[in-house]
Amino acid sequence: MVNAHNLGFPRIGAKRELKFALEKYWKGLISQAELTLIGNELRCQNWETQAGLDWVPVGDFSYYDQMLDMSFTLGNLPDRVRDSHGNALDNYFRVARGRSAPSATDDQNPAGVAAGEMTKWFDTNYHYIVPEFQSDTTFSLDASRLIEQIREAKLQGQNVKPTIIGPVTYLALGKSKDASDKRALLPQLVEAYRQLLERIAAEGVQWVQIDEAILVTELETPWQEAFEEAYQSLSQCPVKLLLTTYFGPLLDNLSLVTKLPVDGVHLDAVNAREEVDALIESAPQDRVISLGVINGRNVWKSDLNATLDWLEPIANSLGDRLWIAPSCSLLHVPVDLDSEAKLDPEIKQWLAFAKQKLDELRVIKIALRYGRGAVGADLANNAIAIESRRNSPRVNRAEVQESLSKMSEQWGNRRSAYAQRAETQAEVLNLPKYPTTTIGSFPQIAEIRRTRRQYKAGDIDEAAYRTAMQNEVARCVREQESLGLDVLVHGEAERNDMVEYFGEQLDGFAFSEFGWVQSYGSRCVKPPILFGDISRPKPMTVEWISYAQSLTDKPVKGMLTGPVTILNWSFVRDDQPRSVSCQQIALAIREEVLDLEKAGIKIIQIDEAALREGLPLRRSQWQNYLDWAVLSFRIAANGVADRTQIHTHMCYSEFNDIIRSIALMDADAITIETSRSDMELLKAFEDFNYPNEIGPGVYDIHSPNIPTEEQIVDLLTKAGERIPAERLWVNPDCGLKTRQWDEVIPALTNMISAARKLRGAE
Ligand code: GLN
Ligand code: ZN
Repeated sequence: MVNAHNLGFPRIGAKRELKFALEKYWKGLISQAELTLIGNELRCQNWETQAGLDWVPVGDFSYYDQMLDMSFTLGNLPDRVRDSHGNALDNYFRVARGRSAPSATDDQNPAGVAAGEMTKWFDTNYHYIVPEFQSDTTFSLDASRLIEQIREAKLQGQNVKPTIIGPVTYLALGKSKDASDKRALLPQLVEAYRQLLERIAAEGVQWVQIDEAILVTELETPWQEAFEEAYQSLSQCPVKLLLTTYFGPLLDNLSLVTKLPVDGVHLDAVNAREEVDALIESAPQDRVISLGVINGRNVWKSDLNATLDWLEPIANSLGDRLWIAPSCSLLHVPVDLDSEAKLDPEIKQWLAFAKQKLDELRVIKIALRYGRGAVGADLANNAIAIESRRNSPRVNRAEVQESLSKMSEQWGNRRSAYAQRAETQAEVLNLPKYPTTTIGSFPQIAEIRRTRRQYKAGDIDEAAYRTAMQNEVARCVREQESLGLDVLVHGEAERNDMVEYFGEQLDGFAFSEFGWVQSYGSRCVKPPILFGDISRPKPMTVEWISYAQSLTDKPVKGMLTGPVTILNWSFVRDDQPRSVSCQQIALAIREEVLDLEKAGIKIIQIDEAALREGLPLRRSQWQNYLDWAVLSFRIAANGVADRTQIHTHMCYSEFNDIIRSIALMDADAITIETSRSDMELLKAFEDFNYPNEIGPGVYDIHSPNIPTEEQIVDLLTKAGERIPAERLWVNPDCGLKTRQWDEVIPALTNMISAARKLRGAE
C-alpha cells in the first residue's frame, strides 16, 4: 500500500513566531532558553500537523538555515569562529550573521566576525549559508541536534524520517577558500556522513532522506563519479537511504541515479513527470519510488482527480514500493491558508498552503489505498474549486488576451539607435559629465512606517496619508536640491515594497496577510499572488512623480519596477507559461511608462533587481529565459520617444554570462552594484564593449560607513579605465531606504564632491 511522506515543513511558524523569537534573542530581549523553547514548540506543532503521514521529516527545522546546520553537524566551521566563547548556538549565529546575541560574549571580536556568504538555494528565493572549504578542512561529527530531534519526534509517537543534505550537494554548493580542489575532501566527508548515519541508525531509524538536489543540474564527470564513490560507501550503513531530488528533471543524471546503491529515490513528478516511467523501468525491483505529486513551489490547489487518473495505474503496478510526497520541501510555501480571513473567498478556494497541501496528499493516499469513493466528498469539492478557477472571468480576461495578441516584437524597439538617442537626450537634459543620481529610495524613517501602519489600520484616512507622504516627497526633493544632485528622485516614501506596491494597483494580483516564506534567517517575504490576466486600471505612479517634478527644475526620474522582477518575486500562475504572465505585466508597465512620458517626465527608471534570479537551473535553458525576459523589459520600456531617457537598475554585478542580454535591453543607462568589487566587475561591460551608459555603484549602501570623497574618486578613476568617462554615471550601489538621513547626507555630499573633482580635473 502506498505511503505518504513529507520532505520538509516551513519552520517559521504560521504567524512568523520563529522570526520574532530570533530577533528578540539577537537583541538580548529573551534568553536562549526561551528561544529554544519556542523552537521546540514549533517543531512539535509541525509534527502534529503532519501526524497523518506515514513518515514525518525530522531535522528540517532550523534556527537559520539547513545548510549551516549541516556544516555544524559535520564540524565544518570557519576558522574565524572556532575559538569563540559561548555555546554552540551562539557560534552558529556568529557564522550566520557575523555576531551572536549581545548577552553572549563576543569579547574577542567585539565587532563580530565576518558572516558566512549567503547565496540562492537553487532557483528558489531561499538563501543558504555557503559551506567553506580549504585544503586542510577536517570534519568532526556532532550529531546532537539531529539525535535530539529524532528523540523529540519519537516521544510524540511519530514515525520519523530524518532529513539531511547529501554529501555531494553539500560539497558542490560549498566554496573553496584557498582555491584548492574541494573534491579532494570527499573521502573524509563521506566518512563523516557514514558516522552520522551510524548514529542515526542506532536510534532505531529505518529511513533517512538524503537530499541531492544537485542532481537536477548539469554535472561534470568528476561530480558524477563523486556520487558513485559516496553512495557506494554509504550503502554499507544500516539505514535505508531515500535519495531525494527536486526542482526539476534529472535528464542525463537519470542513469546515474539508477546505478546508485540506494533503497529509494524521490523524483519531482511535478517538474519531471515525463521521467517517471523511465525512473520506474530502470530501477532495481526492490527500490522505493517516491513521487513528488503536489507542487511544493506554488500556492495552487492540485487537481486531485487528474493526479489520480495518472497515478492510479502507477500505484497498481508499484504497490508498496510507491511513496508519495510534495515535489520538494514545503519550506517554499506559506504555512496555513486557514490564517487568511481577508482573502477574497473566490480566490481563496483556489489556493493551498503547506498545511492544505498535506491534506491533498492525504486525500490522494486514501484514494489510492481504498478507492476514490473513500474520499468522494473531498474529490468532488476539489473538482469544483479547480473548475471555478479554470472558468473564472477574473482569471481569463478576453480584453487582456486581446491586447496581448496585438503586441508585436516591434513594440520592443526604440525609434532610433542609442547613439542618436543619446544626442537628443543630451540636448534635452543638459547634464554635466559624471552626472550624479541615486537609485530611487530615500530613508524609510520610522515616521513613514508608522504613518503607513496607521493608514492600513484605518486610524487615518487616505487624504491624511497622502499628505504625509507628499510631505516626505517634498523633503526628499529639498534635500537632493541642497545636496546638488543632477537627477532627482521622489524617494519612494509611499512604497512599502517595490513589487507589492505595483501588485496592489494591478488587476490580477491578490495579497495574503500571513503568506510569508523564509528568504534567509529571520527574513521572510510575502510574495503577491498573481492569479489572473493582468491589467492596469489607472496610472500608478504619475501623481507622485509629477508632484516631485513640480517642486524642482532638475529632472526627476520616474521610478518603476520591471515586469521580470514583479514576476520573479511573486507566486505565479501554473495555467500559462511564465513568459505570458510576464508579457502581461510588461504591457501594464508600458502604459505607465507612456503616461509618465506624457506627464513630462524626462527620465524613467525601470528596476530589474530580480532578472538574474529567474535564470533556470540548467544553463541549457538560460537563453530561452533571457530571450523572453529581455523582450518583456523591452516591451515595457521602449515605447518612448528618443528624447526620453530609460534607466534600469540591477542589484548585483555578475554580468559575465548575461551581458549580451543586458545589452539587448537597450536601456540608455544601467546602474549596478559594484563598489565592493573595486570596479573589477565592470570587466564584463568592458570586454563586451557595452555601448550605453553605466552607473557603477560607488558606495555600499548596506553598510552605515560613510565613504570618503577620496575613496569615491578612486573608484570612479578605476571605472574610467574600463568605461569611457562620458558614459559614466555617479550613484550609490542601490536604494537608500534602509539608511538614516544622517548617513545619507554626508555620503552623498562626498559622492557629489567626488564627481565635481573629476569634472574639474578634465
Ligand atoms: N528603486 C529601488 C530602491 O531604490 C530599487 C531597489 C532594488 O534594486 N532592490 O529602493
Ligand atoms: Zn538595487
